[in-house]
Amino acid sequence: MTLEEITEKARTYAREYWDMDLDALIVINPQFSQILGRVFLSENGYRIEFCTGFVMGEYSDIAVEKIIKHELCHWALMKKGLPYYDGNPFFEAELERIGAGSWTNPYSSNCIRNFIYS
Ligand SMILES: [Zn+2]
Repeated sequence: MTLEEITEKARTYAREYWDMDLDALIVINPQFSQILGRVFLSENGYRIEFCTGFVMGEYSDIAVEKIIKHELCHWALMKKGLPYYDGNPFFEAELERIGAGSWTNPYSSNCIRNFIYS
């Protein structure tokens, strides 16, 4: 999957699941070794970062889509002022609703340790 395809999927999911316009910059962070994805708020706005493996074909499209949804869920709930932490029942219910990976899912088990909000 290319970065353009990942961004397009993110835009589609934001619209489909929360009726929101994606205002986060989607980037690949080559420094990730354990992390699959993370969201954070920088002084230039929201950024959603994914590991290089996503664009290198190291993960199936299904896995990539689940992680995109998972990170977007953090972004959307953060923006809405709703509970957005991994393990929070509201957040987990939202993941279930949109068919995303949970932190209990091996695909995204690293997320909880690396989720950064600043
Ligand atoms: Zn997470």
